[in-house]
Parts: sequence; structure tokens; C-alpha cells
Amino acid sequence: MTDTQGKLEAGWHLDNSYAGLPDLFYTRQDPVPVRSPQIVAFNEPLAASLGLNAQALMSDEGAAELAGNRIPEGAQPLAQAYAGHQFGHLTMLGDGRAVLLGEQVTPEGKRVDIQLKGAGRTPYSRGGDGRAALGPMLREYIISEAMHGLGIPTTRSLAVTSTGQAITREEELPGAILTRVAASHIRVGTFQFARGAGTTDDLRALADYTLQRHYPDADLASGENRYLILLQEVIKRQAALIAKWQLVGFVHGVMNTDNMTLSGETIDYGPCAFMDTYDPATVFSSIDSQGRYAYGNQPYIGSWNLARLAEALLPLLHEDEEQAVKMAENAVETFAGLFNEYWLAGMRAKLGIFREEPEDEALIEELLDLMKTHRADYTNTFLALTFDRLEGTPLHGIEEFEAWHARWQERLGRQSETKEAAHQLMRDSNPAVIPRNHRVEEALEAAEQDGDYEVMHQLLQVLADPYAHTPEQAEYAVVPESTFRYRTYCGT
Ligand code: AMP
Ligand code: MG
Repeated sequence: MTDTQGKLEAGWHLDNSYAGLPDLFYTRQDPVPVRSPQIVAFNEPLAASLGLNAQALMSDEGAAELAGNRIPEGAQPLAQAYAGHQFGHLTMLGDGRAVLLGEQVTPEGKRVDIQLKGAGRTPYSRGGDGRAALGPMLREYIISEAMHGLGIPTTRSLAVTSTGQAITREEELPGAILTRVAASHIRVGTFQFARGAGTTDDLRALADYTLQRHYPDADLASGENRYLILLQEVIKRQAALIAKWQLVGFVHGVMNTDNMTLSGETIDYGPCAFMDTYDPATVFSSIDSQGRYAYGNQPYIGSWNLARLAEALLPLLHEDEEQAVKMAENAVETFAGLFNEYWLAGMRAKLGIFREEPEDEALIEELLDLMKTHRADYTNTFLALTFDRLEGTPLHGIEEFEAWHARWQERLGRQSETKEAAHQLMRDSNPAVIPRNHRVEEALEAAEQDGDYEVMHQLLQVLADPYAHTPEQAEYAVVPESTFRYRTYCGT
């Protein structure tokens, strides 16, 4: 799989447009080599879609590339600079344990970042070791691929490569590197960094780059308003994204501004997890003691983060600061309405409703209230409604719920579409499976403790097409009897 000069025929078509930004935005940095790279998870369909040769990448030379021991043809590795509000406090950050190899240009001409996460120390590492542990990298692989299966914009996972080196956390853990694929790694925090550390020209360079890369239509607009269009478009994408999170019960867990992308993709799977029992106060992260990033708070935090983006963009919006502030405020204020619109549309579909009626929101809220009061499982309640399998669920036989059910049936009866069509809409809108916490843990345990990756592969398979509703998926929908208090950890 190497040619006569020892070059790996992996299909790399790497470009490095990010390196064309002003110097302050990055530092050239090669990954730090590791002892004995071994690919433990590899995403063949993703590789194919990127024009990469899976067989070549899964060879020893390929593993060396994915571990950072060998620099792929055309790569100009760098670590990106950024800042971020972490739990409300602004800090200078940057890629402390990640290196961007470059941008793969796919056969369709799409451009995606190829990043090695856990690739060693960089100038932005502060006190950290630049490394990542196997468990959390496998976890990011599973959950990001599950999100993709659910139809939610997300960074993807191409591979996890174990390093053969232990890393020191509270205990010694096996080290690993995740090959992350992203539309880009431009974050709200990248703009905060530009505003804080750069000139207005630097900020404009970043905004122009972002427009060109993610909003090519808006990029065509001329004059100062193109930056307002950028802000408005990011707000739209984030409102749509967070609505999708809410609709599947995804709790990101660490919505710091450095973990919010300009592309509208979900990024940074640290302490995230899916909610079982419906409760807006759901928090999994061990460090989120105040519940800042609780499930029900995600839309508010989304809006708060976008206000930070708007602040960073002020000098580009208008030369008169007062006017710039007004424009920024008006833009950020649209978030709540947009979010609600996307969320309601998604909720209607989950209930088999095709068109708007004014009372829909009340109907939806009433169901959620009942789910909360009676501690019903979020995902499985919608599945039970879809397949009319309510018996055995906590809502079955509850008087208020029966009344709600009758009203819902009346609502469905009022629309011109058939019952079959409504059922199909519900099947397509309510996943048969989500990455249940106990299933994720089971897969990680088998991999970490026994080197058995079969459990994870099976899980990935059922998660790949969550709207298929196969008998095999039913098994993965079962909620454990003892709902233990699930805890997740950051930066591991
Ligand atoms: P995260 O919690 O992954 O969003 O990371 C927050 C910041 O901490 C980012 O700047 C990371 O690059 C940095 N970071 C996290 N873990 C490490 C580590 N092991 N070594 C160096 N920097 C790290
Ligand atoms: Mg981060």
C-alpha cells in the first residue's frame, strides 16, 4: 500500500487554508510521536466518503499517520488558538491536546478538517499533558456517530488509535488518539480570541474566512452587512442544532463558548449523555454542580453563547458602536423565536402532526409535564405513542394521560392525512434507539478491560440507523431497572 518511495496511498488530498489566516490564529506544531500505534476503531464508510483508502489507513503505516508518528502527504500540522467562556469565565485556550493535520478535500469537493485529538503537548497545553485516554476517545466515537445516525449535524470520528503509552489521571490509563473530522474547528471562542488578541483586520480575516468556508451564499453579499448576515446565519444554525438536541434528549454537558462551532456542528463530546427519564433539570457532568448546562437550560445557554459571538463581531457590524450593539442585540433576540419554531416543528412530527394549530404547543407541553410527573422515559414514551404500546409505561392508566391521549387522537383525526401517514411520520421522527448510558458503559468496559471491541461494534451498528425500528434495536431500547445516577467526566 506504499508506492516505490514508501509513500502511503491513503487517498489524502490535504489543503491547509487555515494556515493562510494571520499568524496569531495558530502555531505550527507536529504531533508528538507515540510508542506503538494500533487502530482499535475505524470508520470505513466515513473513510470512503472522504475519498480515503481504508485498507491503506488500517495498515501499520496508516496507524502511524493516525497516531501522528508519520505526517500524511500534504499535511501542515498546526494547533489552533482560541479563547472561551468556561462556565461563564473567559479564558485563553487553544488546542492543548489536538493538532489539525489539514483539510481533506473530498471527491465531491467538500473540505473537512482532519484533527488528531490527544496528539501531545502544544504551546496551548498550559499544565496538561496533551494526551487523551482510550475510554473517552471511544466514547466520543460512539456518541458522535450516534448523533450522525440521528441526523444531527456533528463532528465525526474516523478512527481511534491506541498509543501503547499510559497516561496519568487519577489512575494510569491507556492512551489513545481520536481522528476527528469536522466541517471546521472554528468556534465562538475563536472569534473571542480574535477580538481580544487581534486587530480589527485579524477579526475581519477570520470572519471572511468563515463566511467563505461555511456560508458561501452569504459571502456573496457585499458591504458591512455580510458580517451581520454571518451572525444571523450562525444563530439560525445553532437554533436548529439545539432544537435537534432537545428533540432527542441529548445533554451536551459543557456548552462553553469554545465548544460551540460556527459551522453549526455539535463538537466536543466530553461529559455529554442522553436523558432517560424526562426531566429538564437533567445534568450528568460531575463538575456542573449548578446545573448551568442542564438539559432544559441548553437553549438559553445557546443564546448566551451567541451573544458572546455578537460581542466579538461588534467592530465589524457597524463603525458606530451604538448602532453595532443594536444590530447585535436584534440578531441575538431572534434566537428564542427560531429555536421555538424548529423545536415545535420537530415535536409536531414526533406526534404525527403535519400542520400547525395554535393549541399544539399546549398539547406538547402537557405531555412533557405528564412525563416529568410520572417519571416516564423520554425516548420510550414517544416510541410507545408511535407503536401504540403504552401498556407497561408509567403513563398507562393515568387519568390525565388518558384525557391527553384522547385530545391527541382528536388532533390527529382533524388532519387530512391518513393514520398510516401520521404513523410513518412518527416512525421517522422517533428513534428506536439512542446511546443509552448503560450500553455505552458496557461497550467501553469490554473494550478497555478485555480488549473486546465486539460489543462496541454491535452498538455502533444499531445506532447507525436509529429510525429503522428493527427487532434487534428493541433490545437496545430497554431501560435498566435500577436507574443508577449516571455521572460523566470532563477533559478526561
Ligand atoms: P475541553 O474540555 O476538551 O473542551 O478542553 C478545554 C481546554 O483544555 C482546551 O483548550 C483543551 O485543549 C485543553 N485540554 C484538555 N485536556 C488537555 C490535556 N490533557 N492536555 C492539554 N490541554 C488539554
Ligand atoms: Mg473544547
